[in-house]
Amino acid sequence: MEVSALSPSKLERLRLCEARVESQLHDEGYEEEKGEPALIGTLAHECAKLWYRKGVDGSWLYAELGDAFRAAMNECTNRQGRGSELPREASSIQAARTLAEQIATHYKRDGLNIIFAERRYKGNLSNAVPVHLIIDLGVDRGVDSHGNRTLEIIDYKTGFIACTTEDMYDKDQVLMNLLAVSLDPEYATKFTSFHFTYFWVKLGYETGPISFDGERLKDYEHWLGLEYKRIKEIKEPTESLNRFCASCGRRNDCKKYREWMTEALAEPKLLTLEEMSVLDDEVLMVQHQKLKGQMDKLEKLRDGLGDHLNSQLTVRQTDEITGKNYKAVRRSSQHDSYSVQTVLALCQAHHRDPASVLSVKKKGAEEMFASNPEAMQQLTLTMKKGRTAPSLQVVQIGVKRKTQPKKKAGTPEGTREAPVIQPAPGTSPLGQSETPAL
Ligand code: SF4
Repeated sequence: MEVSALSPSKLERLRLCEARVESQLHDEGYEEEKGEPALIGTLAHECAKLWYRKGVDGSWLYAELGDAFRAAMNECTNRQGRGSELPREASSIQAARTLAEQIATHYKRDGLNIIFAERRYKGNLSNAVPVHLIIDLGVDRGVDSHGNRTLEIIDYKTGFIACTTEDMYDKDQVLMNLLAVSLDPEYATKFTSFHFTYFWVKLGYETGPISFDGERLKDYEHWLGLEYKRIKEIKEPTESLNRFCASCGRRNDCKKYREWMTEALAEPKLLTLEEMSVLDDEVLMVQHQKLKGQMDKLEKLRDGLGDHLNSQLTVRQTDEITGKNYKAVRRSSQHDSYSVQTVLALCQAHHRDPASVLSVKKKGAEEMFASNPEAMQQLTLTMKKGRTAPSLQVVQIGVKRKTQPKKKAGTPEGTREAPVIQPAPGTSPLGQSETPAL
């Protein structure tokens, strides 16, 4: 596989699916779907870069964060070779601004000795492995009591999921960035130690700082050399299903993805009673169990899709996603209930058994006090108003949903009402002839 340079994200993507990376690198017309959360993160990073940079005269490039943010929007509309990377929704602009403000508040620039803001490393390591890295922020942390001068590199993470300080020791990004700055002649002589910190912007905290000694970084550099050789020797990149397949630009041509979709969405053939009657009991039981397993899987899949859509709504800070044919809407309904204390007090005052008002349901309380206007007024005045927990509904646009016929009181949930059988004239409801009255 032809890979021009290694980067932490490329290594990560190669572990997830080689075929996708191959298409990203070499298929003309391959288009990656860049989700709104990624665009929000890009804009926040761009703003932070401009905020922490100084001009040639040594003063900050932008005095106000708002100006840096709007300049960042301009930058995002015109990415060289990548088209516009500006978020598409108005709410995303607000979300990106909030992230940028959180970064600026956490790292107050006037109190920091900033060495660089968004430094790009593009070149070869000492073992000739080409790398391409971008480091968000470099801060000179000064000299400690042992005479060590530390350069701390900071990476802002704008997603929801954070990793622990322990997890950081396994991250390519941490090792690769530390390797790059420790090899950089500009810093290698000036600093004696290099630290790496993640700032989880949405969560408002840091993990790290961590560091590696020179020997460990040399090991990593050596491993990168071997890994780069292995990647270059890949003749047939393999397809591996992973949690990011939904945004993959080659999923329509991907054999593995198509097979998986067919299996996940296949509708089992419906059998008529006649067809079932010719099948062996054992076959029916096997089929029954198989369908049960499929139903469990499908329910899990549906719940997973619902959770994912829900998180998308949260990220976009909206209650509705509208597609071409479907829309996902998060709704909660208003509900009223009488105050428990009032109902109990009324029961006591009117010598009624509170147990008959089943869990102070609105209907039960109304039935008991309907003939007493004073009690009804007291109930209404103390009524508690609330909302049900939000639930997600996916509906087809332009198709009216069928309204379910209202259940009659007393019909248990999930059961059908028994049909009313009208007795034939001259017969009892049991179908027997009525005995003529003597
Ligand atoms: S759809 Fe998934 S498995 Fe197929 S190429 Fe894309 S990432 Fe790989």
